[in-house]
Amino acid sequence: MAEKYRHLYVVIEHEDGEFLPVSLEMVGEARRLMDSFNTKYSSNEKVVAVILGHNVQDLSKQLIEYGADAVVYADNPELKDVRNTIYTKVIGQIVQDTKSLGEIEPEYASDIKRPRYMFFAADSIGRHLSSTTLVELESGLASDINKLVIEDIEMSHQQKTGGTKETYAKTLEMYRPDFSGFLWTTILCLDNRNPAFKRDYHPQSCSIIPGVFEPLKRDSLREGKIIEFTPTIDPQDLKVKVLGREIIKSEVDFETPRTIVSFGRGIKDDPEQNIKLIENLAKELNAEIGVTLPMSKKPYQISQALDSKYMIPARVIGTSGHKTSAMLYVAAGVSGAMQHVMGMKDSGFVVGINPDEDAPIKNECDVFIKGRMEDVIPLLIEEIKKQIQIVEVQ
Ligand SMILES: Cc1cc2nc3c(=O)[nH]c(=O)nc-3n(C[C@H](O)[C@H](O)[C@H](O)COP(=O)(O)OP(=O)(O)OC[C@H]3O[C@@H](n4cnc5c(N)ncnc54)[C@H](O)[C@@H]3O)c2cc1C
Repeated sequence: MAEKYRHLYVVIEHEDGEFLPVSLEMVGEARRLMDSFNTKYSSNEKVVAVILGHNVQDLSKQLIEYGADAVVYADNPELKDVRNTIYTKVIGQIVQDTKSLGEIEPEYASDIKRPRYMFFAADSIGRHLSSTTLVELESGLASDINKLVIEDIEMSHQQKTGGTKETYAKTLEMYRPDFSGFLWTTILCLDNRNPAFKRDYHPQSCSIIPGVFEPLKRDSLREGKIIEFTPTIDPQDLKVKVLGREIIKSEVDFETPRTIVSFGRGIKDDPEQNIKLIENLAKELNAEIGVTLPMSKKPYQISQALDSKYMIPARVIGTSGHKTSAMLYVAAGVSGAMQHVMGMKDSGFVVGINPDEDAPIKNECDVFIKGRMEDVIPLLIEEIKKQIQIVEVQ
């Protein structure tokens, strides 16, 4: 029997003629997944990149070189800037367009209803767009995913299967780090097979954390289909006007300093004093100060001066904040959740200060100091001062 769902669609983000890195990372992972899918199921399903914008033909060609089998692009001045309502509508139109499906795979075009799988970026644009698009497509969405597996799974579920055991073939297992990154949650988007309320949930979709997957090397010899899609644009969907765009510089510069000292919930026993310790260490090292995401939510009562200076989103390191490749990264009272690590893993030399030697940050460290920051940091400062004196004398 012909299948109603085929292919993996990847929604691409770009800015000023350049891809956002996460777009190529998603295409790379889509290629790897679909290559093993096609081998496992003796199939020939495609990686289809979807790109919206104005003057995007050249980018479309590059997407083939980075691993897509086909690219469907919508080129229109009204799509130059990302506006959620119109983008949602146009993506919805593209993924259900029988004409472009016919160009991708003529033999199945009349049977296919929707993509089998769909990827978006887990960034500020992709998180919003994925949720509204999946509402439009009446399916489910898993957010902030960093591991993907395609498997046949067997399950029996009161709601989904009416209590009988069913095999769900070609299920996308979507993993995300939860509970501070210490547990993995596996999210499945399964059709309802319960005779009482049968209903399909396709595409199986997710947003993907930037920086997790590797892009493929660009290969100018790769070939694929580039398909232009002419969107239907309703003036009702253009109510938001973009009058101008300005890149706002972050209040905190994490690019220039060669050293960053970050702190997390490990300051909890004496937040005020511990932040002052961190400040002193940062001063000795000529470092900028970063924080973990929970710190930006102001979890502790501290003086207004320290609170407004440090407990702010602009200092967050990780997937929800900045990425750094500092020469030296000191993580004090930071557990090392996946989302934090994604922001600092490119640092040259990493020092962790933590009393818990099972904390995941240890795996990222060149030097792990087992101990409380209250005890360790004063010793470090003393030692750094001595070393500076030695260098000055020499
Ligand atoms: C969608 C999403 C996005 C996220 N984005 C980010 C992000 O960008 N950046 C980010 O950081 N987090 C992010 N998070 C949160 C992340 O999952 C973790 O919850 C967070 O990083 C944990 O912060 P922490 O290390 O400060 O706290 P905890 O995990 O509570 O760790 C505190 C650590 O301090 C240690 N400690 C305790 N006492 C002391 C002491 N006296 N001295 C030294 N160490 C001590 C403990 O042993 C522990 O390891 C995100 C989560 C989600 C769901």
